Amino acid sequence: MKYNFTSGAELLEKCKELNMTIHELCVEREAELTGISKEEVRNKMRVSLNIMKEAVEKAVKEDIKSMGGLIGGEAKKLTNFRNSSAKTVSGGLMNKAMAAAMGTMEVNASMGLIVAAPTAGSCGILPGAIVTIGKEYDIDDETMIDALFTASAIGAIITRNATVSGAEGGCQAETGAAAAMASAGVVEMMGGSPEQAVHAASHCLQNVMGLVCDPIAGLVEVPCQGRNAIGVANALISAELCLAGILNIIPFDETVEAMYKVGKTLPMELRETALGGVAATCTACSLTNKIFG
Ligand code: SF4
Repeated sequence: MKYNFTSGAELLEKCKELNMTIHELCVEREAELTGISKEEVRNKMRVSLNIMKEAVEKAVKEDIKSMGGLIGGEAKKLTNFRNSSAKTVSGGLMNKAMAAAMGTMEVNASMGLIVAAPTAGSCGILPGAIVTIGKEYDIDDETMIDALFTASAIGAIITRNATVSGAEGGCQAETGAAAAMASAGVVEMMGGSPEQAVHAASHCLQNVMGLVCDPIAGLVEVPCQGRNAIGVANALISAELCLAGILNIIPFDETVEAMYKVGKTLPMELRETALGGVAATCTACSLTNKIFG
């Protein structure tokens, strides 16, 4: 297939050979694989962008309580803090991105509508980065849709060659992959090259390599929500590094392979079973008893 790619190296080769950006190649690939028009492909992504935007807005406007009761109201707290006379530690933009990421996780944990990109547990990172940067720099919807296609290329490669599942590879695979996707999208959205986008994805995966999956009570609430806040910071920091010309010395494909190998060595207690990590603490056990009786 003319537009297909199975690795980061192949993705970059095709971009060069066909003189395309990652998102252009991705739209062509999707149309080629599904047989639908490029316009339809973009329209489907527009639906995803709108769901992401609505989730980000909802958490700031409404009082959301999660099903397990472990999270709710964090996006509002961050927003109120930013709007108060207090000084933000990490700056206004990062505060907004964190609120968007944590808020989307609140929507997810209350059974609201989100885009699981790549998973429900990491659903805050991509909107946290793309919607926030889009709003901050007055970037139009079409460019944000482009960024989501760029992100999808990274997600497709990680899914094909490793995993994006916490149960299989730990949280590094889930929130690490989401950050890698978001970071690549932000790089292209801000005018970076395909190489810079792929390097940003490498930074993200390496920054959280080894991160375990340990959801309290087996619910995708804590520490998941905090890891979405860290994940969006990872995405923005990695994008900034690459846009400044600070590339990664380990190729993306080797990083993905390393992440997968690390995931496979994690014991089952640290892969979404809620038997290890923070999920096995005394406090987490009493919370679990309280929730499930
Ligand atoms: S801790 Fe596990 S369930 Fe929670 S976000 Fe990470 S991978 Fe997903």
